[in-house]
Amino acid sequence: MHSQDYDRIFLSPPHLGRHELNYVHKAIEDNWVAPAGPNLAGFEQDICQYTGAGHCVALSSGTAAIHLGLILLGVGPGDEVLCPSFTFVATANPIVYQGATPVFVDSEATTWNMCPARLREAIEDRLLLGKRPKALILVHLYGMPSQLEPLLAIAESYGIPVLEDAAEALGSRYNNRRLGTFGAVGVFSFNGNKIITTSGGGALVTHHADWAEKARFLATQAKDPAPYYQHSETGYNYRLSNILAGIGRGQMGLIESRVKARREIYAWYQKNLKDLPALQFGPTEPALGVSNRWLTTLTLDSTHTALTPEQVRLHLETHNIESRPLWKPLHQQPLFAQAPMYGGEVSTDLFVRGLCLPSGSALTDADLRRVAGALREMFPA
Ligand SMILES: *Cc1c(COP(=O)(O)O)cnc(C)c1O
Repeated sequence: MHSQDYDRIFLSPPHLGRHELNYVHKAIEDNWVAPAGPNLAGFEQDICQYTGAGHCVALSSGTAAIHLGLILLGVGPGDEVLCPSFTFVATANPIVYQGATPVFVDSEATTWNMCPARLREAIEDRLLLGKRPKALILVHLYGMPSQLEPLLAIAESYGIPVLEDAAEALGSRYNNRRLGTFGAVGVFSFNGNKIITTSGGGALVTHHADWAEKARFLATQAKDPAPYYQHSETGYNYRLSNILAGIGRGQMGLIESRVKARREIYAWYQKNLKDLPALQFGPTEPALGVSNRWLTTLTLDSTHTALTPEQVRLHLETHNIESRPLWKPLHQQPLFAQAPMYGGEVSTDLFVRGLCLPSGSALTDADLRRVAGALREMFPA
């Protein structure tokens, strides 16, 4: 450990419990050190039970899950896929892996997720151009549920299948149902910074048994049913390790407590800093939505401060506290300079004004007071 790490407050570090090591120990003892073994089925079952998903396939990353999900939805070369601009690049990269083009859609100011009116505008315009979108990716950013009721109704009215990127939203709910189970395909991530982790990992969930089977087939090099290695399709090496699935089983036993802790952290910041008008905590839960508050996020109100989020980030850094800008919108990325974009004011503004605060579920009261104290030095009440 570097001396600098000693009292550092990280943005969203892993938070392990007591049982992960037992599963890992057993995997090694039983020689299931492979991308196959009993922890995989156990982890998949835990995810189905918790989310209400019909079927689950544990994979090496959330990105791999999005990639296989797009293949299941038939996305291929020349296709267009609707996608929010305000998200992490991993949402859109698999569109490019498939030789397809992302069509970006702006956010709404409340949930920060895809704006239903902009979505309709985008679909109508693509249809006028003779380009029928092949799929729609919805993201629940920072754990905040998208406005699923209007968004799914629009997608359905045009016959466009939905992939739900719930990488940040395990444990969030909409209309009393877990996120990830609304789309034709849902995706979770268990990367080291997510609400629970397997160090690296992901999962694809679906209500269609044959789709889950197909995803499992593609994730293990697409081996035809033959005694020798025969292949009729391009496959991938995307299966999760049985060791990491063991960590996942231990973590799944803790998910409810992790969701509770993250929600309490958001509420703590909001309550204890409410006298600072420059800090606006958000996004806002939609009707029917409950967020896991994966990360506590805020925007600066320019009528109350001339400071930028970058100045705040650097100040927190002098206190050995990690914070992070909001996601830079994908329509502003050099990588996607050529991609179509509908709207843009909302996500552009969020990026200019926003910041993520330390939100790990293991944060102590003393940690939170330290972050709040550092912020108070910049924003007198
Ligand atoms: C983390 C994340 C992903 C990708 O998950 P990995 O497991 O890191 O590949 C995809 N989309 C969003 C919104 C994410 O935050």
